[in-house]
Amino acid sequence: MIIEVRKNIEASELEAMAMKYKAIVVEDYDRKLLVGSSSAKTIDTKDERHIEKHWVFDNDMQLSSRKFMPNTRNISIGNFTTGKDETILIIGPCSVESEEQLEQTASLIQKCGLKSLRAGAYKPRTSPYSFQGMGLEGLKLLAKMREKYGFSIVTEVRDSTHADAVIEYADVIQVGAKAMYDHGILRTCGKARKPVLLKRGFGTTIQEFVQAAEFILSGGNPNVMLCERGIRTFETKSRFTLDLCGVAYLKEHTNLPVILDPSHAMGYAYGVPDLARACMAMNVDGLLIEVHPDPSVAKSDASQQLNHKQFEELLNSLRPIAKAVGRHIV
Ligand code: PEP
Ligand code: MN
Repeated sequence: MIIEVRKNIEASELEAMAMKYKAIVVEDYDRKLLVGSSSAKTIDTKDERHIEKHWVFDNDMQLSSRKFMPNTRNISIGNFTTGKDETILIIGPCSVESEEQLEQTASLIQKCGLKSLRAGAYKPRTSPYSFQGMGLEGLKLLAKMREKYGFSIVTEVRDSTHADAVIEYADVIQVGAKAMYDHGILRTCGKARKPVLLKRGFGTTIQEFVQAAEFILSGGNPNVMLCERGIRTFETKSRFTLDLCGVAYLKEHTNLPVILDPSHAMGYAYGVPDLARACMAMNVDGLLIEVHPDPSVAKSDASQQLNHKQFEELLNSLRPIAKAVGRHIV
């Protein structure tokens, strides 16, 4: 249940109501909310004088629901705002590898007229013997690109040891599929105000995914975007299975902008352009596509990254699809 309390409520009364309804107090823009379990369905008539409005729900997807907020949230990334008629293309290499590599990526982004650069400085790898990312040095290189080219920087937090550094350097904080369940990270992101790109854990249901977003929203950060990046199924020919049905559900039932990541879902560059076109046709707020100046030497996710020529060809083919669904690409 979500209760919007009247603006003139005394702090002690608010605290008493929070206790009574076992609710979290959330500052939502200019209003105060009490957000408790969806199992609570009724309010005590004695409390009505403190209540502006209240909502009841079938499940704990509450702050994220269209029942609570009918329109898709407007989250700003530089000049781009979600929930409008633009789709942001978030591109870049899987990992920051060198300044030269980022300069090459920056040239591509500029040439394409795009505005954001994504690369990981802290990589959540499945083996401890693989490249783990450049760490703080990588964050500094990304910040240098922002200063030089004005790009918005999207980069991921792998664990809570460097969460504050990522929050400081990034314009958009990416929480990866493996970190989606890390409540330390979710709660830290809840205290931040910067937009969070929350990726779906590959073994999680839509309900679990959206509830992870609720940790950030109820922590006080209203700027959460959901990223579908493929789930694990019985199929092994592609790396994961992109859940476009899930995306249709998220668009219908949640107020959170949706970003689609065909690169990690497919795992192989040959499938990414077709999949990216299908994603664009889903009329979503953004696409995340991995590109690398020379994917054959990439230090992570080498098999799925597009080279720059492949990306430019893809971008040309995405524009008419964007137009057909009433969007334009930024
Ligand atoms: C990534 O975006 O490079 C990444 C590691 O993705 P995911 O968390 O979806 O596996
Ligand atoms: Mn990657």
